[in-house]
Formats: sequence, C-alpha cells, structure tokens
Amino acid sequence: MPTGACGINCDMCKLQLMGICSTCGSGKSPEAEKKLAAQRRAFGGTCTILECAVLNRVQYCLRDCGGFPCENFSTGPYPFSPGFLSMQARRRSELPPAMDWNNRPIEVPESFWKTLARKDPMAVSNFVLGEADGKGGVIFPFLNAVVRIDPQKRELAQRVEDDWLPVSDPMLTLVTLLYFNRVEHLVPLAGELAATNDLKSAPHFAGSHELNMKPMLERYANDPAGFRQAAAHHLGGTPGDMADLSFRLLPFPRIPVYYLYWKPDEEFGARIKVLFDRSIEELLTASGIWALVWRVNIELLRA
Ligand code: SF4
Ligand code: SF4
Repeated sequence: MPTGACGINCDMCKLQLMGICSTCGSGKSPEAEKKLAAQRRAFGGTCTILECAVLNRVQYCLRDCGGFPCENFSTGPYPFSPGFLSMQARRRSELPPAMDWNNRPIEVPESFWKTLARKDPMAVSNFVLGEADGKGGVIFPFLNAVVRIDPQKRELAQRVEDDWLPVSDPMLTLVTLLYFNRVEHLVPLAGELAATNDLKSAPHFAGSHELNMKPMLERYANDPAGFRQAAAHHLGGTPGDMADLSFRLLPFPRIPVYYLYWKPDEEFGARIKVLFDRSIEELLTASGIWALVWRVNIELLRA
C-alpha cells in the first residue's frame, strides 16, 4: 500500500520512482516497521507520526485517529501546513451536509413544526422519555448528547455545560419531528429484533433507499477495535453477544438500534448490519428509519 500513515501518497512522488525513498505504509503495515527501522539506521531517530501510528495501531491518521490533528503534526516540520491543519480541526467539528437517498438536501417541512407545536409537550415527553422544558419544547437525550427541540422557535439546540447552543442539524431535526409527531402513547419494546428486510416497510429499503453502510465499512472494515471504541466508549453502546462484535445504541431512549460487526475472513470482507426492535415500526416511517441510521452512522464516524 503506497499511502503513508500520515496520508502522503508515495505512489505520486518522484522520490519513490527514483528509488530514493520508499513508502511508509499504513500504521498497521510491514512497510511501516521497515521504514522505522531504516530511519533509525539512517537518522538515529524516527518520524513521530509514523512511530505513533504504529504504536497505536492506527492505519491512517486522517481517517482513523480521533486525535487528528495532533501535536505530532502541529509541532513537527512536515507534512502539512498550519493552515491545512486548522482547516481540518475546524471542519471535523462540523456535520456533513444532510442529503436524502437521492442526494438532495434535506428540507424540514414547515407542517412538521406546526404539528409538533399543536401537541402537548408533557405528553410527548412522557412517550419518548424526555422532559418538557416548560416553554413548549422537549428535552431528550440523543446518543451522548442532550438536545432540545423547540417548535415555537423552530429550533434544535444542544446542551453545552449550562447553556443551550442552537445547532443546524437537518437530519436529526427531521427524525425527531417524524418521531415526536407520530408517537401517541408509550410504545413498549417488542423484544424481537428485525433488519430492514424484515420490517413491513421492507420494499422502501430497496435500491438507492438501502441503508448506506459504505462509509462505515471504509472506516471500520480493518479496525474492529476502532469500531468498539466508537460504539462503546464514545456513544455509550452496550456490548452484546451477536456477530463478532455487537452494540446496542440508544439514539432515542425508546428506540434502540443494534450494530452487528463481522470481521473480515478468507471468504468474506467485513460486514456491518443494523437491527431494530420491531417496535420501531410504530414509531418511525421507513424514511425516518433511514434518516436515523444515517445520523447514527455520522456519530460513529466522527467518534
Ligand atoms: S511524515 Fe512520516 S509517515 Fe508521513 S511520509 Fe513522512 S516519514 Fe512517512
Ligand atoms: S495521535 Fe497523531 S500521529 Fe498518532 S495516530 Fe493519531 S493522528 Fe497519527
């Protein structure tokens, strides 16, 4: 693999063509070990980035390390400029554009806000295990965050210490409105797990409406430990005994989702599958389920 742990693609470098320099390889590659040994011989020291990636079993810093951009990059002489590193730090805290399955930007219909504004916030809070804020809004946990939806202000906000910070999160806004507008009573968990193709709305998940697990596989196919870290430590998922690894996540307190992970073997590549408690059929439409998984995936990727 010609790409170094830092992300430099050695295939595109003339030093590699001329045999002056070899690839560093990913932090999990034999090339990395060889390069470190060569650096020790030639320079009496090593690249701190490569050394750290190997030590921490990180394939590629930019894709796989939650610590990027770290001090090894900001204090070292190469490979990236301060401008590039600060752009990376800034954009990593942003949410990606919320797009639907046809790659159109998500738009939250005004009628969804109006419907929630007509509902009794206390009743909604009871049904979703949230808390009415006393001003028409509902406060609820979403994974590891505490969020407030305010249908009067048409606003989603996140609690940061003692403050509420308005957030632009169209996908979470959409899922929350779809769920809160639909729920009419406290729906008990069914205790039966179902994949999208087991749900009554299975035909909706065909073709481009399939759950998009490609970015998850690109990130975690060779990094089960990273998957565990993201699901259990970052998002507070409860480990289960399905597949090679499984975690029960709680995007909403009454809507558990189960992520199942199979490591790659000689026959198959890594696989990640999402299961739901069958009660989800009563709480979310197929579009809502698709949007929920999209949003949970983003948190697993950001971890
Ligand atoms: S910065 Fe380090 S890991 Fe990246 S190409 Fe240079 S020596 Fe290799
Ligand atoms: S801490 Fe820095 S150098 Fe080490 S693996 Fe993470 S991003 Fe790479």
